[in-house]
Amino acid sequence: MLYQDLVKVYEALESTTSRLVMTDTLASLFRSTDCSHIKKIVYMTQGGIVPDFFPEKLGMADKLYLRTLLAATGANEAMVRKLWAEEGDPGKVTEKVFETKKQTTLFSEPLTLDRVYEALLRVARLEGSGSQETKMRCLADILHDAKPNEARYIARIVTGRMRLGVASQTVIDSLAVAFATKADKGAVERAFNITSDLGLVGETLCKSGIDGLNAMHVMVGNPIRAMLAERLPSPEEILERMGGRAMFEYKYDGLRVQAHITGDKITLYSRRLEDLTGQFPDVVKALREAFIGQTAILEGECVPVDINTGEMLPFQEVSHRRGRKHGLTEAIEDYPVRLHLFDCLYLEGEDLTMRSLPDRRTALTRCVKVTENVRLSEARVLDSTEKVQEFFIEALNAGCEGLMAKSINDDSVYRAGSRGYLWIKYKKEYRSEMTDTVDLVVVGAFHGRGKRGGVYGALLMATYNPEEDRFETACKLGSGFDDATLAILPERLSRFRQPSRHPLVESKMEADVWFEPSLVLEVLGAELSISPIHTCGHGHIRNGAGLAIRFPRFTGTFRDDKRPRDATTSQELMDMYNKQLKRVEG
Ligand code: AMP
Repeated sequence: MLYQDLVKVYEALESTTSRLVMTDTLASLFRSTDCSHIKKIVYMTQGGIVPDFFPEKLGMADKLYLRTLLAATGANEAMVRKLWAEEGDPGKVTEKVFETKKQTTLFSEPLTLDRVYEALLRVARLEGSGSQETKMRCLADILHDAKPNEARYIARIVTGRMRLGVASQTVIDSLAVAFATKADKGAVERAFNITSDLGLVGETLCKSGIDGLNAMHVMVGNPIRAMLAERLPSPEEILERMGGRAMFEYKYDGLRVQAHITGDKITLYSRRLEDLTGQFPDVVKALREAFIGQTAILEGECVPVDINTGEMLPFQEVSHRRGRKHGLTEAIEDYPVRLHLFDCLYLEGEDLTMRSLPDRRTALTRCVKVTENVRLSEARVLDSTEKVQEFFIEALNAGCEGLMAKSINDDSVYRAGSRGYLWIKYKKEYRSEMTDTVDLVVVGAFHGRGKRGGVYGALLMATYNPEEDRFETACKLGSGFDDATLAILPERLSRFRQPSRHPLVESKMEADVWFEPSLVLEVLGAELSISPIHTCGHGHIRNGAGLAIRFPRFTGTFRDDKRPRDATTSQELMDMYNKQLKRVEG
């Protein structure tokens, strides 16, 4: 196939904004194309050369492209730079440069689709030292034989600016029209959602028709597009929508990860289909230990944890692990993560995406041995709003965003790539932002782990309740301590040590070491939340629950000027909670 034939179609696509016209134009191109070319056309029309999840990426830097253009055409640099500044589009600039060149050059060999494709693939694959020169040569080679309109699209695709305005949905529609019927659009879409490879879907349709397409299954190595959730503001509405009963899971605040496992090889994909494997070797290792079997596709949420308090940390902490090329070992130590698995989409040769959630959960339970760093999502089948509300508060207290309600009916399949009511998120906020520091009393401590071995990993902190003359716990404090402070804390606290919980301390938590309430520290938290575990203001804001400070940090200030009974009171914390409560529907 000549590249010019594809370029003619591009020109037609660019001259319209009508999706219907685009669909028909593409459909007739597909129908008249040899099946061996479909993949390439699909990728290139969308501005790429491979499926999105492949590592090869185009997007040559403008500077390098400009150098190539000048070298390949011998054009006047000042003139090209001026054009570039005026047009801002490397495609148009290139075309204009080629139009002036036209009078003097004879086109030797017409470009074929294959030749352009191979050159682009090489450009994308070349990396390392000396690769720039080779990239320039590869590109110059095809530009040499390009006509002006061909050069326009070569320039655009190689610099990552194809922008024909052809969305995946338009390609899906055109493939259905070309090789099946409009009514088969849903089937084409599903094939794309489970393979994330529209080129492969097109080729399969071209070669084997709709039956071949319907026989497509999920494949280890091809990320499945994520199933997404709708949202509803109350447990009542959620239960009603779900038919009175559903599975509720903690909604973890982390990074969604899809793990593809075959034997020893494990690849991790993000929700946007990026390959995360290199950034999370610890997760790969943990999965290798936890997975029992040969092949699977598992899905879960990767959550940052504080190894000392065992608590989940804000999502931003995972971002320290993203996009790292150096210092990975340190990052793994400083920002450890835990994987909470919630779905099993493929197991030992069987595609489970069309099976119900209870079936998939059973498969997941069978193939995973729970370990320290690989766990299953906390899940409960519930049928009353009270129980949902209770579980919701438990989830918030554990550091989660809320709950995910999931249908457990027979039709509760995994709807790849679509948002619907089979999953409903419930994130109504019961949290209140904290802007002021508080002064809390140390009432207990927990032994440190990892880098904090030998010193305290976290302190149990309390507010003071003057009515009852009691110290009520509000958080575990593990952040904000430098090494010097950590080293002196055991000694500073040693004279207040108690053999068991001090009688003035109200705590539902078991500390490793107890203290007489004495030392006061200044603490800043991110927000206040309802907590069934902490005793501060217990029963005053919600039955059976107290208040907790989320993500507390020591400011570095010891309030030696304050006696324990001068510390922030439980009532003050409740007032802060009520004043700052944002009842945002999330
Ligand atoms: P949102 O990003 O607010 O639309 O919520 C959907 C996201 O919640 C998913 O993409 C997951 O990354 C995340 N999530 C956390 N916990 C779960 C869970 N138990 N089941 C499904 N998704 C979850």
